[in-house]
Order: sequence, then structure tokens, then C-alpha cells
Amino acid sequence: MREFEYCRVKTLGEALALLREGVDSKLLAGGQSLLGAMKLGLMAPERLIDLRDVAELRAQRELGSGRLWLGAMQTHADLTRSPALRGFAPGMAALASHIADEQVRSMGTLGGSLANADPAACWPAGVLALGARLKTDRREIEVDDYFTGMFGTALEPDEILCGLSFGKPRRMAYQKIEQMASRFALVGVAVAQLDDGSARVALTGTAQGAVRLPAFEAALTRSFSPEALKGLKVDEELMSSDVHAPADYRAHLAAVLAARTVEQALEMQQ
Ligand SMILES: Cc1cc2nc3c(=O)[nH]c(=O)nc-3n(C[C@H](O)[C@H](O)[C@H](O)COP(=O)(O)OP(=O)(O)OC[C@H]3O[C@@H](n4cnc5c(N)ncnc54)[C@H](O)[C@@H]3O)c2cc1C
Repeated sequence: MREFEYCRVKTLGEALALLREGVDSKLLAGGQSLLGAMKLGLMAPERLIDLRDVAELRAQRELGSGRLWLGAMQTHADLTRSPALRGFAPGMAALASHIADEQVRSMGTLGGSLANADPAACWPAGVLALGARLKTDRREIEVDDYFTGMFGTALEPDEILCGLSFGKPRRMAYQKIEQMASRFALVGVAVAQLDDGSARVALTGTAQGAVRLPAFEAALTRSFSPEALKGLKVDEELMSSDVHAPADYRAHLAAVLAARTVEQALEMQQ
């Protein structure tokens, strides 16, 4: 690793001031993606700004509008155990519990995962399926406008993701086929039936990051059942292809998983 300056801040304002000083800086959340990239020499920021002591990024509460707020610095382990999340959207708490291993879950954060937008990550599919609204230090971003492709987001380089909110779904579930070494998703599907009865389906493990599947959503909005998805296919052009699995196999898995995830959403106590 190259040398870098380490700053540990207590407020969002301090973090923003440091980000704007003109030094090549990176925000540090759980470090589970960033530090690995730095060790591999893929990134060499001059300054890390550690957000772990910023209390306002850790908050979790039900908003008056009937939405649940999750702060960006909540770890995967916090969210696995959160009674509020388990009551509001148990499928999201289950999603968190299957990320990586206990060590990664104890350090890795919701915000870090969404800012990193790894195309095989689990949170992007979950928040896309729920139609979440993300909040940064300066604006709100609907999740449909947030992901912009592989490792791409609408965040500006000096913008801090503060957290997100979503309404209570009627049902929601997420399933993935794991890449055995890391437990990242070879393919992962999140399915939600929202309060108004409409369905949203999001896929992770694609060549473009998390994407929605409109044909699957239309079928499930008509009838929220695994049978409604019979005959629907996922376009293999969407999927990534690597040593772990070719695109046509991933596309096949995605369609199978979508039906299984609907089944699970119907079975889960919501
Ligand atoms: C072995 C291993 C297995 C894994 N398996 C899975 C898996 O199964 N599923 C899964 O989804 N993920 C998996 N991950 C990734 C893990 O979930 C990480 O926690 C996540 O990718 C990054 O979160 P972090 O908090 O560690 O962010 P960091 O690594 O600290 O930061 C990642 C990036 O986000 C930026 N950033 C962080 N916070 C903010 C913020 N609030 N605002 C703006 N930018 C910010 C940073 O500057 C950096 O560019 C795995 C990681 C490892 C090491």
C-alpha cells in the first residue's frame, strides 16, 4: 500500500470540508471493498476520511410518512439483527444475513455497498426492488436514477450518501446463487410486492450492475405467483460471463431464481 493520510471525523460537515480541500480523498466506511482495492494497487487515494464516528449516518428509524430510514453506516450485521428491519421488511434482514461471512458483515456497510455498486452485490438488488429513495448530503435520488452501470452511481465524487428510506412492502424476498469463494452473487434476484399491489423485480450479477426486469414485473403485477413467470426468460446479453459461470447459464439461473424468490416471498411471514 502507498502512504496515505487518515482522518477520522465526527460530523458530516467535517467530512465534506475535508472532501473539498482538493486532496485526492476517498470516504472510508467498512473498508471491505476500498482497502482491498488499495492493497491491490487499483486505487491510491492520498487521504481516507473515516465515517465510522459520524453518529447521524448510523440512525435507523420509522419516519412519520410510514417509511423506514436506514443510515448509510449501518453494517450488514446491524441490519441482520435489527428488530425494526425484521418487522418492516424481513426479506431485507435476510439479505443482509447472507452477505459474505461474519467478519465482513461486522465491518461492511449498507452505504459502502451502495456507493461501490459492485455488479455482484446484494443490497443494490434489494433497494431497487423496494423502490427506495436515497438521500445524500445535498439531495434525494430515486433508486431508479441511482445505479448507472457496472460500479457506477449518480453520486458526485464529493457527495456523501447519508442513507435511504422505503415504504413497507406487502412482501419482499431475495435469493442468490453464491459464488462459493466469496459468497457474492453469481446471480441474485429480489422480488417485492409493494403496498399498491405492483411488483418490482431486480437482478444482480449482470454485466451492468443491478437492473430491473420489466416483463417479470408486469407478469407479477397481474398475478403474484411463481406460475405467472412461466415461459419468461432473462436475456443472456444482460448477464456477465467469467470463470465462475457463462452468461447463458446465469440467465437460466436468473429465471429459475425469480420463480423461487416469489415462492419464498409468499411463504415468508411479512
Ligand atoms: C470476502 C468478501 C465477500 C463479500 N461478499 C459479499 C456478498 O456476498 N454480497 C455483497 O453484497 N457484498 C459482499 N461483499 C462486499 C461487502 O458487502 C462490502 O461491505 C461492501 O462492498 C462495501 O462496503 P464497505 O462499507 O466496506 O465500504 P468501503 O469499502 O469502505 O467503501 C466502498 C466505496 O464506497 C465509498 N463510500 C463508502 N461509504 C460512502 C458514503 N456514505 N457515501 C459515499 N461514498 C461512500 C468509498 O469511498 C469506496 O469508494 C464482500 C466483501 C468481501 C471482502
